[in-house]
Order: sequence, then C-alpha cells, then structure tokens
Amino acid sequence: MERGDTPVVSSNPSDILRRALDEQRLSDADALWLAERMAEDGVREPLLEAAGEAKARCQGDLVTVSRNVFIPLTNLCRDRCAYCTFAKQPDSPEAKTWALDEVASMTRGAVSTGCTEALFCLGDKPEIAYRSHRAWLRERGFETTAEYLVEACRVSFEGGMLPHTNAGILSQEEMAALRPWNASMGLMLESTSPRLRGKGMAHQYAPDKEPEVRLRMHEEAGELRIPFTTGLLIGIGENAAERVDTLRAIRDLDDRHGHIQECIVQPFHPKPDIRMRAAEGLTDAEVVGWVAIARLMLGPDVQVQAPPNLAPGMLAPLLRAGVSDWGGVSPVTVDFINPEAPWPALDALREATHDAGARLVERLPVYPRHLTQPGFLDPAVREAALRLATPTGHADPDARREAA
Ligand code: SF4
Repeated sequence: MERGDTPVVSSNPSDILRRALDEQRLSDADALWLAERMAEDGVREPLLEAAGEAKARCQGDLVTVSRNVFIPLTNLCRDRCAYCTFAKQPDSPEAKTWALDEVASMTRGAVSTGCTEALFCLGDKPEIAYRSHRAWLRERGFETTAEYLVEACRVSFEGGMLPHTNAGILSQEEMAALRPWNASMGLMLESTSPRLRGKGMAHQYAPDKEPEVRLRMHEEAGELRIPFTTGLLIGIGENAAERVDTLRAIRDLDDRHGHIQECIVQPFHPKPDIRMRAAEGLTDAEVVGWVAIARLMLGPDVQVQAPPNLAPGMLAPLLRAGVSDWGGVSPVTVDFINPEAPWPALDALREATHDAGARLVERLPVYPRHLTQPGFLDPAVREAALRLATPTGHADPDARREAA
C-alpha cells in the first residue's frame, strides 16, 4: 500500500468498520482487506450496513439528482479507449459537432423543462487527430475545441443554464477560461493504474488516459478552486488494489484542495460493438460492494454517485451501500455515453428512492458545499446559481419556473 496508509490493527470486519465510522474514513489497507472478502456474508453485510450508516450520518435520508440536459458538443475524439461507444470517426454518419445555434436551441428547451444543468460532455482534443475538425473550427474562428467549448458554455450560461463541463484533459489555462461560465467541471479519474495503458489493455490507444496527466488536471482544478466531479470506472482490467489506490488518490486530492464534490462509481458493462466486448462485467453485488467502499474511504464531504440508468433494478441496494446522488437525469436528452440505457423518469426515480426509505431532492450542478463556500465559483456564476437555489443550496423548481 502507499502513502496515507494506516496499519491494519485488526482483521475483524466489525472493528475495521467501527474504526472507519469513528474516524470518518476507511484506510487503504482496511479497504483492501474488505474488498478481497466482500463476497463473504460475514463481511458483505456489515460493510453495507456501515456504508449506509456513514451516508446517513453525513446526509440523513437525502439523495440528490440533477435535472440536466446533455450536450455532447463533439463526439470526435483523439483517443481510442477499448470500451468506448461514444467516439466516432469523422467519416461516420453519426459524427457530430454541435453548432452554437443548436446549443442555444437545446438551452431554450432545457430551461422550459426545468433543467438547471447543461452537461457538456465531449471527446478529447479531436483537432489533434483530425484535419477536417481543425478546418471546421478555423472556419468559425477557433483554433481548438476547448476555445469553441468556452463559447458554447457562454451561450448556454447566458441562456439561463448552469454548465458543467467534462471535456477530457484541459490545461489549467483552458479551465480558467471555462470557469466564468461553469458551475462545476469534471473528469473521471477512472483509474490510477498505469498498467491499463499497456499492450492489449483498455487505454493502450488513449494517451489522455495516462493517470499522471489526469491526476495533474485534478490538482490544477483544485488550485483554480473549481468544484470538481471525478470517479472511477470499474471492471476495465484494474484489480482491487488499483481501485483502492484510485479512491485514495481522490481522497488525497480533496484533502489538499477541498474541491472534489462527488465521485462517480461507474461499472463497465461489455457491449457488442466495442473492443472489450468479451470482457467479463462486474456482478451487481461487486458494484454495490465498491460503492460501499468508496463511501467509507472518501469521508463525509464527497458525495458518492451511481448512475441509475446503468444499474436498473439495483437502486435499493445502491442506496443501502451509501449512494447519495443519482447524477444527472435528463427529461430532454438521452445518455449519449450509454445510449442503450434509458434514463428513469424523474418521478419513477423519486418513487423508487422513496420506496427504499430515502428522499429525492433536486440539486444544481454545484452542491451546497461549494455554493456556500466563498471562492469556489466565479461571482456571476455564483449569483446565477443562488437565484436557482433553495436556502439549503439545492435546486428550487419554483425559481426555474419563474426563469422560464
Ligand atoms: S476519451 Fe472518452 S470519448 Fe475518447 S475514446 Fe476514450 S472514452 Fe471515448
């Protein structure tokens, strides 16, 4: 194990979990001990119970969701991850880069359906790989996709939305340029394992998935005081120790900068049209177990998110394991990253959450933790967010209706 580790003084799950609850975090060594035994009843049940208790202590029965619109500004990407179904080649009939008037039109639709978050999700630096995309950008006066993205975020923000950008690797200068129009930004850390860049592995052809590069961007976002979403992708060839190390790295980042607003625990599911189609997906029980470990490792300030459309039928077990956020659910657009997995309707999600003994509350793309803390948002973004917020810092549906 690495830095931040504490010695295992007991291999009894009850002692480990009591200590994790008392100290508000689970050590790396204890996390690995639990992970390796999570299939055993004597470990699994206490683990889920402790994770649920940790979540209840920090957030009571509250579970949040963001009503969003998904804007995949371009589905061109210079990387080729072995599990990706999002990126397209420029000659594909499905390749698309959104025009600014399409962003404006989607923004109007989103405002009128009560959305507050414009999720800008796009491929990584396609201008490096594709001459046609460079020409497309230049015709419009832009050198890079990141420059164009700033303009798209401005259009959406001025149209009444709060953008959240996830554009792959951005430089610190690019993040600084996006900050005046974004309520938060994100990048899945995915995994700290450099092994995944090796031959035959998930990230062999994805230079932007170099863990060091991704960690540096997280660090630089912290220096800029940008509320930041991260996460781990599980089941892409990493092992249990590497998952624990990824969670440890996320916890350390938040310890240093206090900017990690949420951590997504996203399971990889094999799909027929990807290079990793023959890979074995994780069982539902494993996914739930890793949610519980994330909950206990990350401490009370970082929300743990599991996308409900990737775990249909698993909502109650995920809540039991300490999930505190369902991510973005869109009444307007599909999940372009996982188009085969339909979003649950918000009402159905509310009912399922309620049936599991929890209460669903809509949030903004920035959580109350960073909305109320000075210095984390550009003043104009903060003002816009506060106009859409309840006194607790969650989304106020009445304010959205008035704005529409
Ligand atoms: S970086 Fe993202 S969009 Fe690009 S290939 Fe990888 S998963 Fe797909």
